Amino acid sequence: MTVPPAVELIGLTAGYGRIEVVHGIDLVVPAGSMFALLGPNGAGKTTTLKVIDGRHPATSGCLHIGGHHINGAGADAIARAGVCSVPEGRGIFPNLTVAENLRVMNYSRLGLTDAEIRERVFARFPILGQRHSQTAGTLSGGQQQMLAMARAVATDPALLLVDELSMGLAPLIVTELYDALGSLAADGMTVLLVEQFARTALAIADYAAVMVHGEIQAVGQPADLQDVTDAYLGVAS
Ligand code: ATP
Repeated sequence: MTVPPAVELIGLTAGYGRIEVVHGIDLVVPAGSMFALLGPNGAGKTTTLKVIDGRHPATSGCLHIGGHHINGAGADAIARAGVCSVPEGRGIFPNLTVAENLRVMNYSRLGLTDAEIRERVFARFPILGQRHSQTAGTLSGGQQQMLAMARAVATDPALLLVDELSMGLAPLIVTELYDALGSLAADGMTVLLVEQFARTALAIADYAAVMVHGEIQAVGQPADLQDVTDAYLGVAS
């Protein structure tokens, strides 16, 4: 039996008020792949992620997740279907401890106890285990991003959406976070990653797309996209 794509967008448009910012894009994210959606500031990448996880409505077009047509489904239903986001800016609770931040995600899609969730997460992110009773706001930026990822992983999503993982972080910690993402993908999770910094993402992605001004300019395997990313995102990316 053929496995349906994790995500399929067909002629998807979205916008804010009367301003359309995503102009009828088609995109297929194969199940089990690491897919990087690249593009400059304001290209429409975050808006596309928000449509996929139900935080923002599509204006027109079709959205399929795991082969199911889900246009109009609420963010709660999409989350219960196994989609989880690590949003831009992380969205952790700074006044709660690491362990409490993880507990917040225990809305029991999996029926795991808090202890089981901690065990699962700390095995993958040992530094968080060492800091389980530390207030999240006092972690370094990289550790906070790790916590945001760990919290998402605690729900065992089929599809993980990650928005600007590397934003504001030092290169060393970005490498560590990308390694963690790579190991999630190696374990079979589909990862759709939005990034402005193409080079790091292309180094681990199976597929990538370049989005500019609300349109997909190119899609392919990383080796096929070097010229396009250099042209649209610059050599420093
Ligand atoms: P960035 O890396 O800056 O987040 P992006 O590619 O993710 O860029 P989006 O955040 O999707 O782009 O923004 C696409 C366009 O939509 C931009 O012109 C942005 O100003 C606009 N936009 C985003 N959010 C809103 C909003 N809540 N209200 C109005 N316009 C918005």
